[in-house]
Amino acid sequence: MTTNNLHDALRALPSVEEVLQQPSLKALAPLLPHRVLADCVRTSIDEQRRAIREGGIAESGCASLAENARCRALVHLTPSLRRVINASGVVVHTNLGRSPLAPEAVDAVVDVARGYSTLEYDTAAQRRGSRHDHIEHLVCTLTGAEAAIAVNNNAAAVMMVLREFAAGHGAVVSRGELIEIGGSFRIPDIMALSDARMVEVGTTNKTRLADYAGAIDDDVSMLLKVHPSNYRLIGFTESTPLSELRSLADEVNAERAAADADATPLLVYEDQGSGSLLRLACFGAHAEPTVAESIKGGVDLVSFSGDKLLGGPQAGIIAGRADLIARLKKNPLARALRLDKMTLAALESTLRLYLDPEVALREIPTLRMLSEEAESVRRRAEQLAERLEKIEDLPCAVEVVPEVARAGGGALPMCDIPTYAVKLDLADGLAQACETYLISGRTVPVIGRLKQDALLLDARTLRPDELEEVAEAVAAWCAEGRKGDHRE
Ligand SMILES: *Cc1c(COP(=O)(O)O)cnc(C)c1O
Repeated sequence: MTTNNLHDALRALPSVEEVLQQPSLKALAPLLPHRVLADCVRTSIDEQRRAIREGGIAESGCASLAENARCRALVHLTPSLRRVINASGVVVHTNLGRSPLAPEAVDAVVDVARGYSTLEYDTAAQRRGSRHDHIEHLVCTLTGAEAAIAVNNNAAAVMMVLREFAAGHGAVVSRGELIEIGGSFRIPDIMALSDARMVEVGTTNKTRLADYAGAIDDDVSMLLKVHPSNYRLIGFTESTPLSELRSLADEVNAERAAADADATPLLVYEDQGSGSLLRLACFGAHAEPTVAESIKGGVDLVSFSGDKLLGGPQAGIIAGRADLIARLKKNPLARALRLDKMTLAALESTLRLYLDPEVALREIPTLRMLSEEAESVRRRAEQLAERLEKIEDLPCAVEVVPEVARAGGGALPMCDIPTYAVKLDLADGLAQACETYLISGRTVPVIGRLKQDALLLDARTLRPDELEEVAEAVAAWCAEGRKGDHRE
C-alpha cells in the first residue's frame, strides 16, 4: 500500500457516531449505556486503524465495524459465570461448580443476601457473636467431634492446620499419600508454604506403623494422613490405619510428657478430602470413610471439603478437639480464610438436612444423584430420547444405552456408577460439531461427553426440568447450528 493509499484508508475510517447509527448497534442502545457502546466502537475502530497501519489492510465499512463492536458489547450483556446443564455423568464436576445446592440452602442464601443477618450477632446475649457458631454445633452433632470451624475450602483448612500445629516442626506423611489434587494443591508445596518440615516415610505402595515410629524425633509435632482421593493404589499395598497412628501418638506423648511437661505434643491429623457424612450403601466396598469414623478412630483433627460428597457450598471444615479448634479460631489465617454470610447460610442449611439422613438423601442434589437407582435414571434417559426423536432433520438415530457415571471431585475414583445415557450416533465428525455448538453456541451450555463417534447425554446428572432445554438445544443445532458447519 502506498503512503497515499494508507492515508486514504485511515481517513476513510468512520467516526464513532457514524458506526453507532448502524441498526445492529442501535438495537443494543436500550440495553447498554451510550458510553459503554461508544467504548466498544472506539476499540473496534482503533483496532482497525492499527491493522491498516501494520498490515496495509484495506479499510472496512461501517457495517463490519458495527458488527465487531456488537460482539464486544454482547460480552457485557452475557454473564460470564452462568448456569450450565451437566449431561456429563460426572456428579461432583469441579469445572462445573461441584455440588448444586439443595433448595433449602438456596433459600437460606437468598434470605441472608437480601438483607442484614445474625452473621456476628448473638441475639440471646444481645451482643456481638461469632460467625463460627452457626455451623459448629451441627458439625459436632453429625460427626461426634468436640468442636469445629469452617474456612474457605479444604485446601485452606489443610494450610491452616499445618501452619498452626506444624510450622517450625516436622510433620510425618507416607510417601503413598504425597498427592496432588487438581492443579496447584500438592501436599509437599502446602507443607513448604506452611513452614512445616515434611518427613516422608515408607514407600509409594507400603507404609507401616514402624515407618512412622522410626521417623519420630523430638521435633515432630504431627502425623499427617491424607486421603488419596483421586487415585488408588491397588495390588501389593499396605497403609497404616488411623487407630494404630493414634496408639503410636499416645505412646510418644506419654514419653514426652514424662520427660518434659512443656514438650510439644504429637498430633494426629487427617485430610479426608471428600468429607462423607453418610456411608452410602450404593458405593459398597468403595465407600469413603465418614468423618465420624475418623473422629472415632482417634484423630485429633480432621478436615474435609464442603462441596464434594457433602453436597454443600465451597468450604473447608475442620473438626476435632476443642482445645485445638480454639487455637485455630485465634490464628490470623482464620480471619483471612473465613467464610462469608452466603456460604455460611448454605453450609448451615445443608448440614441441617443431614440431621435426618433420609432427608439428606432426598434433598441434597449430590447425594440424590449419586444414590439414584439406575432404573430411575433410565426412565429419565428415555424421556429425553422421546423428545430428541421428535426433532426433524436429526442426522442420526437416538438410543438409550447403559453407561458408567463418575462421582468426580476426586471422590470414589474406582466406583463405577451404573447409569443410562442418550446416545446420538453422529458420524463424520458431526458429534464433535454438535458438542461444540451445545457448549460454545448456547447461552446455557449443555455439557455432554464424546465417545468415539457418538455424543452421550448422561441422564444421571440431568434434572427432569432440564430435559426440555437439552432437546431444544439439540433441535437448535439441527436448525441453525449446522448451517455453521457447512460454511467451513
Ligand atoms: C479435594 C481435596 C482437597 C482440596 O479441597 P478443596 O475443598 O478443593 O480446597 C484437599 N485434600 C484432599 C485429600 C482432597 O481430596
